[in-house]
Amino acid sequence: MNSDSNKGSKGYVYKRKTPFELEQIAEAIVAKYADRKSLSVIDIEGLVEDLGLTLLPRRGGLRNLANAYTARDWRFIPIAEERAAYPPGYRSDIAEEFAHILLEFELWRKPSERPTGSEGHELTPEQHQAIEEDAWYLEGALLMPKAEFEARFKYHTDSIKDPNLDQFHKMKKVALLLSNEFQASDIAVWRRAKNLKLVDSSEFKLFLDRIPL
Ligand SMILES: [Zn+2]
Repeated sequence: MNSDSNKGSKGYVYKRKTPFELEQIAEAIVAKYADRKSLSVIDIEGLVEDLGLTLLPRRGGLRNLANAYTARDWRFIPIAEERAAYPPGYRSDIAEEFAHILLEFELWRKPSERPTGSEGHELTPEQHQAIEEDAWYLEGALLMPKAEFEARFKYHTDSIKDPNLDQFHKMKKVALLLSNEFQASDIAVWRRAKNLKLVDSSEFKLFLDRIPL
């Protein structure tokens, strides 16, 4: 990608990571905090606490605006309390905000030295999209390590033999099983499968078109 496309009008450049780099970041973190993993589930709440971050569950309509966000002080992650009723979604939200902190740590670490143009409201739509896509990728890589996800995807796909299921509905079943196994939201599972080229973009789009918003 042309790096200029990530340059905002005020000069801030967000440098996109490659999938390889994002996998490496996730692998290093998961390996370092291996005691936070039990079976396929990474205790993302415990892991961020090990790193000195504090989750701040909030009431009062935060969910109308966002599921979670990174506070100006990077050590806090405000998160909508209602999301805790659906742990796979809650955990995915935490992983996504944690991914933002990892990806732009220099910005979060010293807010007073943030370069102009790097504030959320100053970003161009293209910059915003690039940052979100990297954060979503890293979220998936943190909760669903590559080799393990690929193996479990294959296992479930091979085990479903119902001839009446079309490809999309078969994938929906597989995604539900993986969502339970890794305790990641269904959208995170689908996105991980798309990023690892286990489903194609048109199937992923079909899924996105069908989820109730
Ligand atoms: Zn985000």
